[in-house]
Amino acid sequence: MIRRERHDSRKCDICGKRGARTRRIARAYGKGDDFFVIQAVPIVSCPHCGESYLEAETLHELERIKIHRKSFTKKRQVPVATFA
Ligand SMILES: [Zn+2]
Repeated sequence: MIRRERHDSRKCDICGKRGARTRRIARAYGKGDDFFVIQAVPIVSCPHCGESYLEAETLHELERIKIHRKSFTKKRQVPVATFA
């Protein structure tokens, strides 16, 4: 599933006013061996009522990632040599 980045202002689900923004943040889950990070989670924040919330669709997608995280996560610490 591809989520498209929305740059236009949107209606806040909490107070119903326009101008809520979507931000992308990293969220950490689990502990020890189960610890992992999901990057670029879209969070809606509203300047009017000050609420930040996740959309139902986002929560659903996060659950899917958590269940299948082995196939979603990738090791980032790869030694890289630069040819100078
Ligand atoms: Zn609001």
